[in-house]
Amino acid sequence: MAKIVILGGGYAGMMAATHLEQLGESFTLVNAHEYHYLTTLLHEAAGGRSDVHNYCIPIRDILTKRTSELVVDKVKTINRENRTVTLENGELSYDYLVYAIGWVPEFFGIPGLAEYSLGIRDLESAKEIRQHIEERFKKYKETQDSRDLRIVVGGAGLTGIELLGELMEFLPQLCQQLDIDFSLVDVQCIEAMPSILPQVAPPLRDVAAKTLTDKGAKLRIGIKILKVEPNKVILEGADPVEASTIIWTGGVRANPLLQELGFTCDRRGRAKVTPYLQSVDDERIFIGGDSAWCDDEQGRPLPPTAQVATQMGTTIAKNLHALVHGHKEEMKSFRPSLKGTLASLGREVGVGDMGGIPVRGMVASLAKEATKVKYLWELGGMRLTAEKTQQVVQL
Ligand code: NAD
Repeated sequence: MAKIVILGGGYAGMMAATHLEQLGESFTLVNAHEYHYLTTLLHEAAGGRSDVHNYCIPIRDILTKRTSELVVDKVKTINRENRTVTLENGELSYDYLVYAIGWVPEFFGIPGLAEYSLGIRDLESAKEIRQHIEERFKKYKETQDSRDLRIVVGGAGLTGIELLGELMEFLPQLCQQLDIDFSLVDVQCIEAMPSILPQVAPPLRDVAAKTLTDKGAKLRIGIKILKVEPNKVILEGADPVEASTIIWTGGVRANPLLQELGFTCDRRGRAKVTPYLQSVDDERIFIGGDSAWCDDEQGRPLPPTAQVATQMGTTIAKNLHALVHGHKEEMKSFRPSLKGTLASLGREVGVGDMGGIPVRGMVASLAKEATKVKYLWELGGMRLTAEKTQQVVQL
């Protein structure tokens, strides 16, 4: 029986795993944690909307077959000649590999950014943002130092804007708890490009900007972050900003391992795949999610989104199943069905488009919640959906 190893339990890896289970394949899944987390909702955890447990799911609750093995470990390297994966605590051999270990932050070589900024990278780092802000606000009570109430968010893409939406709901509550005048809080989002949220239509960007500025956020557009020092952000053509909380949401790139191993990569370090999602350099390796450089029908690279990653996972499972059973001709080209983009702006409002139709306000927020429910359903059926949507049901 062919030995299948899946690297990474993110959206692509988990979807590949659940579909392989359904197709009757056995495999080993390697993941850094025992749980899968809902990366697209981690800004909620950073803003303290709900307990962090609501954003993670134990992998053993999702993979129910005895033939599905979970190894909790980190990938160090891959030897394509010997077909082995070296982990921090061991080694695995494979006949076929699914590589889906996701992204790392893109720092663009900006000095000090990696050292002196926080970011939403995983569950722990999302939690850290919330704790850090709480500590700084408590410290302000002793020091009365205005820098402790200043927060800089670098980047106004989807991550930055969704995080701002959460913060502008969380901070007034925190101020109330700590008896701090909210008007003293200074939240600045600094974006190098001439507009926020390039993923949505211009009128919706205006809606998002108004929603956030009405709640007190400052959007500083067309200003580039050049350097970060401890508690200080150096800007191009504007005065430095001193702040005790600096959060970087300026973009992502694939894990550098792919480039180190000599795969054909794009400028974001993603490895080029065939229409069947196999590496162009090695047909035994399927690549999914934010690690895959895959063009759409117009030849434009697909964005590194959860929507694309989950669909890739499904296609990988089906193609792998065909390949291991000697039916290579049954493999199907990956044809993503893109349903739109939705950005939350706090608990009850959002902006975006659904199949090309612009949506805003509560409709967008509900649509975003619906995408979560759909994903949970695909991943773990009724039981998992009921368990993880308790909050919605209670509402
Ligand atoms: P992004 O690349 O989409 O946005 C980063 C922003 O940071 C850009 O607007 C960029 O101009 C800005 N920036 C970069 N360097 C800068 C500098 N030096 N100074 C100031 N600004 C700077 O990154 P993201 O928001 O992390 O998103 C990553 C991917 O994940 C995207 O493909 C996105 O579509 C996806 N995503 C989707 C959702 C959703 O669907 N709701 C949510 C989050 C992320």
